[in-house]
Amino acid sequence: AAIAMQDAAHLPGRLQVYQQGRDDAHQRQISLIRDLRHAASNAELLLYYQPKLDIRAGQVHEAEALLRWNHPQYGMVSPGEFIPLAERTGSIQILTAWVIEEVVRQLHEWNSRGLHMQVSLNISAEDLGSLQLAERVAALLAGQAVAAEQLVFEITESAVMQDPERALEVLHSLRNCGIHLSVDDFGTGYSSLAQLKRMPVQELKIDQSFIRELDEQSDDAVIVRSTIDMSHSLGLKVVAEGVEFQRNLDLLRLWNCDTAQGYLISRPLPAQAFEQWMQQWQPSTLAGAH
Ligand code: C2E
Ligand code: MG
Ligand code: MG
Ligand code: MG
Repeated sequence: AAIAMQDAAHLPGRLQVYQQGRDDAHQRQISLIRDLRHAASNAELLLYYQPKLDIRAGQVHEAEALLRWNHPQYGMVSPGEFIPLAERTGSIQILTAWVIEEVVRQLHEWNSRGLHMQVSLNISAEDLGSLQLAERVAALLAGQAVAAEQLVFEITESAVMQDPERALEVLHSLRNCGIHLSVDDFGTGYSSLAQLKRMPVQELKIDQSFIRELDEQSDDAVIVRSTIDMSHSLGLKVVAEGVEFQRNLDLLRLWNCDTAQGYLISRPLPAQAFEQWMQQWQPSTLAGAH
């Protein structure tokens, strides 16, 4: 540090710029953490929906809800930035509660207009600490013409590993309500087949890092093919995330993968744009689907 200071003495301008950049980043974090608590009540949150393609049928009956935050000062902040902050500072439950309510409201609206979707949403480790989660979701569904089966909760294995006994109890109670469960980002972080076997899940999502550079000869191909086969042996549906190219989709179809999600099919869209996308979607849009 002494050397850095000495060097910096010859470069006062540069030190200032560096310090300024750090202060700005720090200030931004502090503001985001402070404002997170009120983002929901200030109507700054919105959900985008990304279609999940049934590869065999070429049809779309599922979507993932992804959170967006329109901050009054910073504009659109990505969940990659604010979700970890919310998880660290105890605001995540407020966000999760809002997401669940909003998804149920949206499903209700779509159901009433004849658009029957299954929508997945993302759940954090901190949410899996609460045994009341399932009760609250059941109470929310009780008043609405929305089936529990229309909801899918995506959880990572790392989230379950924070407190496995409690998390498994919460997952079982959600499952008993009829909610479907999915393992997100499979293959990253803690992955253990023993853990996977204990989780009452119906679906597994292969992390996009394995899909992005997929070609027939790569190591990723071996991992992806064996993950698909293993999932099917365990009775699970498999989703490939981050499908950006037609050749990836063709390989996934060849390997019997069930579902594809990625920019090739569509980016995440605001609800209304998603509905329009659904209306124009045709199984033949991506050649090779039948
Ligand atoms: P995730 O759940 O794994 O969601 C997939 C992410 O990959 C999304 O980023 C999506 O926009 C992006 N993606 C989808 N297809 C492609 C593709 O073809 N190429 C590339 N490069 N990216 C693709 P997003 O929306 O920025 O979300 C990032 C992460 O933030 C999510 O990863 C999830 O872990 C978290 N997140 C988002 N919404 C929520 C939420 O409501 N609650 C919680 N707890 N976490 C959330
Ligand atoms: Mg997800
Ligand atoms: Mg993922
Ligand atoms: Mg993720």
